[in-house]
Amino acid sequence: MKKETLALHAGYKKDSHKTMAVPIYQTTAYEFRDVEHAGNLFALKELGNIYTRLNNPTTDVFEQRLAAIEGGVAGVATASGMSAITFSILNLVEAGGNIIASSQLYGGTVTLFTHTLKRLGIEVRFFDVEKPEEIENLIDNRTGAIFFESLSNPSIAVADIEAIAKIGEKHGIITIVDNTVATPILCNPIEFGADIVVHSASKYITGQGLAIGGILVEREEVNSKLKTNIRYPQFNLPDESYHGLVYADVVDELPIFSLRVRIALLRDMGATLSPFNSWLYIQGVETLSLRMKQHSETALKVAQFLESRDEVLKVNYPKLESFNNFEISKKYLKDGGSGLLSFEVSSFEKAKKIVDAVSIFSLVANIGDSKSIITHPASTTHQQLSKSELENAGVSEGLIRLSIGLENSEDLIEDLKTALDI
Ligand SMILES: *Cc1c(COP(=O)(O)O)cnc(C)c1O
Repeated sequence: MKKETLALHAGYKKDSHKTMAVPIYQTTAYEFRDVEHAGNLFALKELGNIYTRLNNPTTDVFEQRLAAIEGGVAGVATASGMSAITFSILNLVEAGGNIIASSQLYGGTVTLFTHTLKRLGIEVRFFDVEKPEEIENLIDNRTGAIFFESLSNPSIAVADIEAIAKIGEKHGIITIVDNTVATPILCNPIEFGADIVVHSASKYITGQGLAIGGILVEREEVNSKLKTNIRYPQFNLPDESYHGLVYADVVDELPIFSLRVRIALLRDMGATLSPFNSWLYIQGVETLSLRMKQHSETALKVAQFLESRDEVLKVNYPKLESFNNFEISKKYLKDGGSGLLSFEVSSFEKAKKIVDAVSIFSLVANIGDSKSIITHPASTTHQQLSKSELENAGVSEGLIRLSIGLENSEDLIEDLKTALDI
């Protein structure tokens, strides 16, 4: 089935009430049939619901649906995009190990990688996502993951997923892709060989800025990549917290990366998605393909308008022919460039004037809402950086980021035109 169809049906089997909408199972726990049943569930001899920190029927539909449209075999939902990213790393790397990460990343991921992981004893080595050839020199026998964004926020770089996945394949290292901005509608990293896909569901998946959440999706081949791989002893040696369970010996139909996220990390760290938020995401996924096409179409029109203005020095959008990632975007973003773009004006003052003058765009630290958003990184998210640090991060003082919503493109262009004319 195609993605549009899976987005409406995957993962939901109607119960005796035959409800068209997926029910919200708002419950903490589930009754066991008897002592033997309870014992089997805890010993993983039988799979089933135990406690909502581990699994929930509403969340299960969201997990199966997202995994289906990403082309993966399993998904695990989490309380936020950040917890999905944290778990994707902690499932593969322990103190003394390292990961290799793109330097063009979401701000929260940068602080996780440079500060929090460091305190946990995990080193992060950065590469330029536009130069995958830098990766191999950074690999050693303690490297457990390669992490990057398919379409980066806020720098709008398009990653060569296939080239990076090939390097991971060659060295037996798991590749993790944050696909939040591209969404599974515009790009499926698994198709190009990526192993794990993570999302902040707080953005386009909800689509209306309604709830914080995240998800991890696993590629089918991950089981064979983890088994007998000396980089991943946690999957090949007995897990004492599960009476000596060896993940690599679990029946092949169970994707073991996701299994371990659920029964070890969710069990112990508890960053679980609420069933109500899973239900909101199921509503969002139903219209995701329509919305992404519209976000992309409107964003291109806005980008073309901005490019036509003399006071705009540069416009960054994957589908503009003048953009340096235009060629690569043809391969990875066939159906649209998503709703995120940035543009540069000559000074901090000029940028400030524009941001304060728009009326339809809201000044908000978010993306992926149906309502359009404007951000001035130099005065907000990147405020603490010096002039040279801003330059390294690709953020000039006159850079403005737009998250294009679902308003009429003519109204958005008129709003920007009025602001630019001031
Ligand atoms: C927002 C965002 C995150 C973090 O997600 P939360 O749901 O806010 O925790 C991670 N990656 C990208 C690309 C994002 O835009």
